[in-house]
Amino acid sequence: MAICSFSTLLKEAEERNRAAGAFNVGSMEMLMGVLAAAEERETPVILQIAEKRLRHSPLELMGPMMVSAARAARIPVAVHLDHGSTPAVLRQAMDMGFTSVMFDGSALPLAENIKETRALADEAHARGVEVEAEIGVLGGSEGGPEQRSVCTDPEEAERLASASGCDALAVAIGNAHGHYKGVPKLRFDVLEDIRRRVGVPLVLHGGTGIPAEDFRRAISLGVRKINIATANFDALTSGAARLLHEREDADYFALNEAMVQSVKENALRHLSIFQNR
Ligand SMILES: [Zn+2]
Repeated sequence: MAICSFSTLLKEAEERNRAAGAFNVGSMEMLMGVLAAAEERETPVILQIAEKRLRHSPLELMGPMMVSAARAARIPVAVHLDHGSTPAVLRQAMDMGFTSVMFDGSALPLAENIKETRALADEAHARGVEVEAEIGVLGGSEGGPEQRSVCTDPEEAERLASASGCDALAVAIGNAHGHYKGVPKLRFDVLEDIRRRVGVPLVLHGGTGIPAEDFRRAISLGVRKINIATANFDALTSGAARLLHEREDADYFALNEAMVQSVKENALRHLSIFQNR
């Protein structure tokens, strides 16, 4: 059984000055592609699904598949609910055997974010499940309306991390969900300040389109989990489009293989950066 907590992976990443890749999946093909890449690289990986994406990929179908794939994998795999906010959904993921859940209270005032994250962390920890919290406003959109990015206040990050009992903290340092308009400008000075104040591993969302050298710099400053969602979805659709363009007679089985392969290639590309190889 290779399923494990994200803390185990993030601790190992800290020791090796790496980050763990956390890939969002929406279908069996995406899941297979990510695991094939991680097994080929012999590196642990995090499989995750965001609450806002459950309309297209229902949790009652995806959740058991993710947990079962993690248990059967040859490498350690954590299974995580990304951007959770609805109590019933957070509980459903925990019931299914997810090893961690994210409570996204970033839109709440600090005191509310602390209170709600604390309540979830108490419940989750009693069940052996870990919690990722978030502070600051990420730009772009994770399946909802577009948001303007507001950098995490390092002092507020310190207060949330120490008072909420979270196991990892997602920060906003100029990163955004979806596709960047132009090259992202990450605030490494803010990241450094957060790192000095916060003991738990830091998480970088909005990994799609961040240049390799910025990933490496963020890792050197303490980012231990990097989320890749949009690039993973794009890899699947471009793999499918390429095949259907090249082969008019392509059947489902050829399509399945093309989608798995292009997701795998995207995951391999990111994993080699995150491993600092
Ligand atoms: Zn995110």
